[in-house]
Amino acid sequence: MILVTGAAGYIGSHLALKLLETGYDVVIFDNLSTGHIEIVDKLKSLNLKGRVVDFIKGDLKNIQEIENVFKKYKFEAIFHFAAFSIVSESAKNPSIYWENNFLGTKNLLDAMKKFNINKIVFSSTAATYGEPNYVPIDENHPQRPINAYGNTKLALEFLMDDYSKAYGIRSARLRYFNVIGADKFQRTGEWHETETHLVPNILKSLNTKGKTFNIFGNTYNTKDGTPVRDYIDIEDLIDAHIKAFEYLKKGGKTDYFNLGTKKGNTVLEVLKTAEIVTGRKIKYEIKEKREGDPAILIADNKKAKEILNWQPEKTLKEGIKSAYNWERANFL
Ligand code: UDP
Repeated sequence: MILVTGAAGYIGSHLALKLLETGYDVVIFDNLSTGHIEIVDKLKSLNLKGRVVDFIKGDLKNIQEIENVFKKYKFEAIFHFAAFSIVSESAKNPSIYWENNFLGTKNLLDAMKKFNINKIVFSSTAATYGEPNYVPIDENHPQRPINAYGNTKLALEFLMDDYSKAYGIRSARLRYFNVIGADKFQRTGEWHETETHLVPNILKSLNTKGKTFNIFGNTYNTKDGTPVRDYIDIEDLIDAHIKAFEYLKKGGKTDYFNLGTKKGNTVLEVLKTAEIVTGRKIKYEIKEKREGDPAILIADNKKAKEILNWQPEKTLKEGIKSAYNWERANFL
């Protein structure tokens, strides 16, 4: 039995699906603040390999609610996705980010300690690095976040170091770069009430009622002036989580890993690729830079390759294609 927090959301739901396909029973713990019950219902209805999916609506900010789940089930490990993750929102309202991300996770770890669960795979982020001194960014690059979201995640990496040393709770902290794409059968995908991410925003602009697609800044010091990011496909990302879990099961020590492709693409390159995938012309307007957006973020993924034996396989085009299929099935 595995606990997946935040599995009503984008990345958590893909991981829950993978666990079910692999043959694990899964408990979903989610407060549905940004996730969707429809996704949970879909996972339940699939009846994959006869596996059990239990959904518990609860909030990590309330330690009693999470302890009740640990009383009911004995977990082999935890995958922890539940978090707020919009950078601009975190800058405006750090209080809810610290409460939700930091306190919520601390409660989860305290419950793990109390119930003797010693393995956790945790969603960290490239935002813990801040403005890079060099690219590709390896795991030893200094961590100086430039927003509250990155600060909460970095603080949690520290907290997990301390809990590992003192209580033997081993963690794999996975520092995501830019995640794109959706399940190949559209059983789940990216679905945010307020969409801020690049690929879904490009695709949503294809809807006749859709908003114009905005490019936030074209005067960065990059080849075409738009920011460069490392876009990693959700399937590859999920594969890395499973490998991180196997690593912990084999007794692997508390560690952190970048999850990216080591390739960078500008916003305009992503847009051109989306035009090829969709066969449509995508109109755009140039807007002001978003505050706190670094010019270039590219992952050095050598450590995950060597220690987790992981290798990203999907291209940018494949990631945009699966995202497009999901958008078309649900929103366009
Ligand atoms: N971006 C953009 N228009 C949008 C959304 C994003 O130009 O509607 C740009 C953004 O400035 C950044 C890149 O796309 O350079 C990736 O942004 P996203 O919000 O997807 O991820 P982030 O890098 O902020 O985690």
